[in-house]
Amino acid sequence: MSAAPQLSIVIPVYNEELNLPLLFARLYPVLDGLGRRYEVIFTNDGSADRSIELLRAQHAARPDVTCVIDFNANYGQHMAIMAAFERVRGDIIVTLDADLQNPPEEIPKLLEKMAAGHDYVGGYRLERQDSFFRTYASKLINFVREKTTSIEMTDQGCMLRAYSRPIVDAIVRSGAINTFIPALAYSFSGNPAEVGVKHEERHAGVSNYSFYQLVRLNFDLITGFSLAPLQYFTMFALLCSAGSFVLVLILAGRRLIIGPEEGGLFTLFGILFFLISVTMVGIGLIGEYVGRSYQVVRARQRYHVRELLETKP
Ligand code: UDP
Ligand code: MG
Repeated sequence: MSAAPQLSIVIPVYNEELNLPLLFARLYPVLDGLGRRYEVIFTNDGSADRSIELLRAQHAARPDVTCVIDFNANYGQHMAIMAAFERVRGDIIVTLDADLQNPPEEIPKLLEKMAAGHDYVGGYRLERQDSFFRTYASKLINFVREKTTSIEMTDQGCMLRAYSRPIVDAIVRSGAINTFIPALAYSFSGNPAEVGVKHEERHAGVSNYSFYQLVRLNFDLITGFSLAPLQYFTMFALLCSAGSFVLVLILAGRRLIIGPEEGGLFTLFGILFFLISVTMVGIGLIGEYVGRSYQVVRARQRYHVRELLETKP
């Protein structure tokens, strides 16, 4: 491996020991068939199973597996990709999942599109093979993202994507924390494109994302790329205060004309509780942004590498 690779493949791995053997068996023939110099970089994102042993063996056996990054804990898929991005050497970088939901056989499609002059090619899953809930929740969040950020993407959750080197360098330089890599890439791209790619059922195991983690991830996406939630909230708060002001005028008028009244006390409570809950949502929302700023200001390292297996070029 003297000359720098033309293509870098980046794969985050979290408890995938049952999927890795088949991934290796399907990935390398595809890459070998491309006729380009390539490298594969794996990040082990704090797996509790034997994933790291399998990756170590790959690194020992194959010169094109140039790098295995072993995190000390679970930092999430996007951080795992970020760590690999910091070490890629290829001109084009392709990310995919380790669970074979993104068929490696689709990689040439992305590369073809890149060859047509695009600097970023995102895949979108043609027939999604996920649970009903995941598929529809994902449609909903794609819609919300569309409305609140200026990011246009058919399928933000599809990680089968190709990036040109300058885009990956920009992502690394951005130093973003809690980020959503496909959206960040989009924001740096001058000429993005999309291609439909096949989607398969997870080969083994279950998704590593719990409901809570999916909510967090999408919160990061929206608050990381847009101030729209704060602005919508402010507008809504303005409407509420205008409404309350009118109510106060009406009540004051009635007090003067009719005199003291007792009825309507619980209506008032209802309104009050509503306004208090709106305030609480607002405080939470501001907290999200303050939290993000706090993380940036604190500037603590984003992840810790326990072991780094690297083939020196
Ligand atoms: N993954 C990771 N860290 C995590 C969760 C997932 O590195 O905390 C990896 C995982 O091993 C897989 C990819 O990210 O290669 C997608 O994860 P998963 O299949 O669980 O997500 P889903 O397909 O359900 O969105
Ligand atoms: Mg998956």
